Order: sequence, then C-alpha cells, then structure tokens
Amino acid sequence: MKSLIDKLEKNTVLSKEEYAFLIENFDGEISEYLFEKARNVRIKNYGRDVYIRGLIEFTSYCKNNCLYCGLRCGNRNAERYRLSKSEILSCCEKGYALGFRTFVLQGGEDPYFTDERMLDIIKSIKSGYPDCALTLSVGEKSYESYKAYFDAGADRYLLRHETADNEHYAKLHPKEMSALNRKRCLEDLKNIGYQVGCGFMVGSPYQTAENLADDMIYIKELQPQMVGIGPFISQHDTPFADKKNGTLELTLFMLGLLRLTLPYALIPATTALGTIDALGREKGILAGANVVMPNLSPSDVRKKYLLYDNKICTGDEAAECRKCLEMRMKAIGYDIAVSRGDCLNFKNSERK
Ligand code: SAH
Ligand code: SF4
Repeated sequence: MKSLIDKLEKNTVLSKEEYAFLIENFDGEISEYLFEKARNVRIKNYGRDVYIRGLIEFTSYCKNNCLYCGLRCGNRNAERYRLSKSEILSCCEKGYALGFRTFVLQGGEDPYFTDERMLDIIKSIKSGYPDCALTLSVGEKSYESYKAYFDAGADRYLLRHETADNEHYAKLHPKEMSALNRKRCLEDLKNIGYQVGCGFMVGSPYQTAENLADDMIYIKELQPQMVGIGPFISQHDTPFADKKNGTLELTLFMLGLLRLTLPYALIPATTALGTIDALGREKGILAGANVVMPNLSPSDVRKKYLLYDNKICTGDEAAECRKCLEMRMKAIGYDIAVSRGDCLNFKNSERK
C-alpha cells in the first residue's frame, strides 16, 4: 500500500482500482504515511497558512428534498428563516473587521431569492468590499443565472457533486434530481470562469469504496479549485435518520488522498468533521486541508440551519468562532491568514 501512496504522490493520480484498493484496506499506519506526504505537499504550496471563509447561511428555505438533509422541503419540523439584504451586509461588516476576506453566501434553493434579488445582494457586497472574494453556494441554476451572478461580481461557486455515480446519486435524491444535471452545473460554472468547488459526503448511505474511487477520478478530471468533503451525519427528521454516520478515519484518509491528487486545491476542514470529533478540524488540517469556514450568521438563526444533528458552534458569536479557530490552529503550528486565499493554479483571464 505504501508503494501506491508513493505512486500517487509522484503521478498525482491513480486508477479507479488502485484508489478503491487503498480505501478498502487502509489502516492507522498507512494513514500516517499518507498524512505526512499530504502535509508536506500542502506546506510546499501554501506554507502553514490556513485560509478562513466567512460563511453566511442566509436562508433555510429549500425547494429540494435531498434525503440526507435537514433543510429538505419534506421536513415539516424545520424552522425556516431568511436574512434580509441589510442583515447579510452586517454579517460582512462584522466579518471584515475580524479579518475575513472571503464571504460565502450559502443557502437552500429558495425561490424567494430570485435572480433579481441575488444580483442586488452580490453587487452590494462587491461594491462594499471590493478587496474580498465572494463565493456562492445556492445549488443548481441555469447557465444564464450563473453567468449573471458572475458578471455581477461573484468569484467562486461551491456545488458539491455529492457522488459521481448515477445510481448512488439516485439513492440519495428524489427522482427530480440527477447526477447529470449536477455535473452540467459544474461544467457551466467552470466555463463561465468561476473558481469552482465540488465535493461529497464520506460514508453517505449506500456508498461503496468504488463510489469513492469514482469520486476521485471525477475530481481529477474536473480539476476544481476547491473540494469540500465531510462525513455524512444523520439528521433526525430525514428519511436517513437511522443511517450510520461517516467515520473520522475514512474522512481524514480521503482528505489525504485528495491533497495528493490535487496538490494546489483549497480543501476545507469542514464543520461536519469538527462535529464528529472534537479535534476533527485540526486533524483535517494535519491530513492536508488548508481552509476553515467559520460561521458569520447571526447567532439567533444558527440553530435553524441544521443540515445534520449536533452541529457545532451554533451558540457562538462570529468573534468567538474566529478566536477559537485561531487558537486551535496555533496549537498545531498553523496560522490563520488575512487574505482572499485564491487558488494558486487558477488563472483568471476575464477578471482584472
Ligand atoms: N443547497 C445547497 C447548499 C447547502 S447544502 C446545495 O445543496 O448545494 C451544503 C452541503 O451540505 C451539501 O452539498 C451536502 O453535501 C452537505 N450536507 C447536507 N446534509 C448533510 C448531512 N446530513 N451530513 C453531512 N453533510 C450534509
Ligand atoms: Fe436543499 Fe442543499 Fe439540503 Fe438538498 S442539500 S435539501 S439542495 S439545502
């Protein structure tokens, strides 16, 4: 197995069979071997900087019904909220003062936020904070909508592909949704000129080692600037309430494989990882991740954005989260950077 890790380090890719073999057979020793290499690659390219992204969860309404997610429209127990434009801008103001230079607007697919409303919000953020990057994560849209958001100033887009396998995708989503459309969206976003992020849940129901190997191959082909992965965590009001959570060990192992597969990618140590283990985010950084995404949403709405159970930091203020992360990163020898933190291998010809 060590020779496969060496091969991945050297070639930055393996065959599907080789990825699957590692995923099926890894243990603690091989993980440590992988993490050391992944850390070295990360430090060579990005030093010991950890980029921070201020996450603004601006709506918990969603018209979709993904089986795993607590915000699914079928969840009648979910409390719903929307932030107004001025509330969103005051999150940015607070975040800017705390050193954030990237804001991420994330939400369910909420029809209230028409293109017209989104464009107004995007333009206001970009004119108020011209030195900041704006990332959107609002699901599947048409090419025209994505293009309009980009022309209004949005820089990056996060849309996890969730799983590259069509059949597995169909087990996680209602029949109106498809892996094909998800991939179409990611292609459109790339063609328009966004810095693009895909990703998947580790240990989602029915997932096999082959599925994860397919995800690695898909990601290698897509060449995204960002990849977000975190463990699946069950949510009590969804059809997957009784399904097992993804594990810390496999999530960290996948992070290490990702770092060697995409040496320049921006890879977050996610909140979900911090939820399944008290030191999950630190362990994620030590396995090759280089981004953290603390919450800037107002504290009174945080408990209503529950994609999964036991989510951390739902009672904290933005300033507390920022401080807490700074200490956590310092404790493992890493530093939070006040920077947009763009991907080093992204050449943007359209934007000056
Ligand atoms: N509506 C947008 C953005 C919000 S959901 C979208 O779907 O893209 C953001 C991500 O949360 C999803 O891509 C999914 O991978 C993750 N997520 C949802 N439910 C989850 C759960 N139960 N456990 C772990 N991650 C989950
Ligand atoms: Fe909506 Fe995103 Fe949750 Fe699916 S994962 S139900 S699109 S918020």
